[in-house]
Amino acid sequence: MDEAKPLTPEEVARLQARLRERRAELAAAVDARLHGHGPDRHAEAGLPRRAEETDDDAAAEAERHADVAHLSRTADELARVDAALARVTAGSYGECADCGEAIGIARLTANPAAERCATCQEIFEKRRGLLRGARA
Ligand SMILES: [Zn+2]
Repeated sequence: MDEAKPLTPEEVARLQARLRERRAELAAAVDARLHGHGPDRHAEAGLPRRAEETDDDAAAEAERHADVAHLSRTADELARVDAALARVTAGSYGECADCGEAIGIARLTANPAAERCATCQEIFEKRRGLLRGARA
């Protein structure tokens, strides 16, 4: 991305504010999933009980899987947002984790937690896809 320029301090501050907002949202979502259903919690995983909401065990099971998948996606994003905030503190925010070039304001505006430039992200995802394919 040859038009990508290093971020100005104002841009960093703006994106940091968005990251903090997003972090609060995600933390609240995780918290609601884990603790939002009163004292009747799923003891093992800390997940809400769903069995009594339907008499279909398969549906309850599927819903529980969806809960776990959703929770895991939320926790993943939370980790990415946290990592981005740590990079703001470290002063390396906006630099590609792989090639060190500027990620660019356009890409960071779309995704403030982005840790790679578009080119490196593409390579990363291709490699990850290949690894996953090989394992399956
Ligand atoms: Zn890169």
